[in-house]
Amino acid sequence: MEPMKHVPHVVPPLDRRSFLGLSLGSAAGLAAATAFSPALTRARPPGDVPPGKPGRRPLNVIFMVSDGMSFGTLSLAEIASRVRYAQATNWVGLWEKEGVKRSVMRTASADSLVTDSSAASSSWGCGVHINNDAVNFTPDRKTPVPILVQAAQNGKATGLVTTTRVTHATPAGFIANCPSRNSEDEIARQIIDRRVDVVLGGGSKYFPDALLAKRPDLRVMRTRAEFDAAMDIEGVPPQGPVLGTFQKSHCLYECERNEVDPSLSSMALMALRQLSAKSNGFVLQIEGGRVDHAAHANDAGAMVGEQLAFDRALGTVLTWMENRDDTLLIVTTDHGNANPGLTLYGPETYKGIERLCQVRHSFEWIFDQLGMKLQYDDAVAASKLSEEDRVGSVVREATGIQLSRDEIAAFVGALHNKNPQLFEPMSRSSSVLGSCLANHFGVGFISPNHTADFVEVTAIGPGSELIAPFIDNIELHGVMTKALDLRPAAAI
Ligand SMILES: [Zn+2]
Repeated sequence: MEPMKHVPHVVPPLDRRSFLGLSLGSAAGLAAATAFSPALTRARPPGDVPPGKPGRRPLNVIFMVSDGMSFGTLSLAEIASRVRYAQATNWVGLWEKEGVKRSVMRTASADSLVTDSSAASSSWGCGVHINNDAVNFTPDRKTPVPILVQAAQNGKATGLVTTTRVTHATPAGFIANCPSRNSEDEIARQIIDRRVDVVLGGGSKYFPDALLAKRPDLRVMRTRAEFDAAMDIEGVPPQGPVLGTFQKSHCLYECERNEVDPSLSSMALMALRQLSAKSNGFVLQIEGGRVDHAAHANDAGAMVGEQLAFDRALGTVLTWMENRDDTLLIVTTDHGNANPGLTLYGPETYKGIERLCQVRHSFEWIFDQLGMKLQYDDAVAASKLSEEDRVGSVVREATGIQLSRDEIAAFVGALHNKNPQLFEPMSRSSSVLGSCLANHFGVGFISPNHTADFVEVTAIGPGSELIAPFIDNIELHGVMTKALDLRPAAAI
């Protein structure tokens, strides 16, 4: 297996430096000429992965989740990639690949047409509809065995990779049983007790030394340097199970990562190296977890950056899968969120996407800045600048956009709960800021919440032929267990 530095990144990172060399005008001209040339996706096929054949069984399953990805998010990432880099994304590129299976999936949970992430991930994890907020815990208090536990009982290695806390809803849905997703201490304990082989992401605060003392065999990583040291063992697979948690809470947004955290792509590669050293195959979940967070905030710039980072991880997986026919890859999302869409007309749409690609900071950063300044600002600075000026300046620093006076007034009003919107959920100050920026990016949102929209499923490799064209989310559990021919799980 090659070291991380040799893995090609099909799309460059979405950070400030990568945009500085290209002017808006020239980029928009290039985009208008080439962004949607039909030849683009064919020019860069994603890995020579053999199609699934009926009757063949995979040794491995890789389940990739872009959390909270409305179809509009996938569309925007594709549009941004083409406008900015004249390249298709890996995900959309897959659709032109021979043997790729596509499906449309319903996402409702047991108690809600609009699911949350824990009920959705549990539907894949145990094949049962449960209520929102629960983790593999049914309304009648049963605890069906999660798929990573069943896989381990069948001799498979197991892995969880995410940009959220590793105890968060989506990874939990593959490993834990809990009445509440918020019991992350308990979910951490189950991750440790149930002996997941590779766990990478955020959430170190849930793994205190007292808990880690139960597993002296674990290689624990808390820093980028420790991660890099583990990756640099050229030609020698890392020994033993690993737990890498690189932030106390979630990993940093891609636009603010600045190499502090390992990328999702590099964490995915470490997991693949580690797990493929086992001869009996593996089940690995890889989650781009903060697409969902940015969508909740109606933060189009951070959201597209997260989706493109997820797509680079997909590129890493496809490179690893080249010339293999022993791995089923499923790429999907747990639910839509905020249903973003590019919704202005004309040549300005290209400029809007160009502006979007130049965003340097998330809304989280903007609110941190405003919160610090509003609460702790020193009197001198406060006396020099009006609140409107400070708000306008912070938004401009983060996004490159100069909001109009009316837009700033609307946002400041929302910060003080004085700008109610007719659709009440859109009264959140982050949604008002998202609406203001929609005038500049062209990207609008319908709410700050998850949606009931059906979602995309893309799959390739042996076992993908088991996926019907229109499915319920619980069906993917059966696809995985049947493809891997797992024995029924023993009670735990
Ligand atoms: Zn969410």
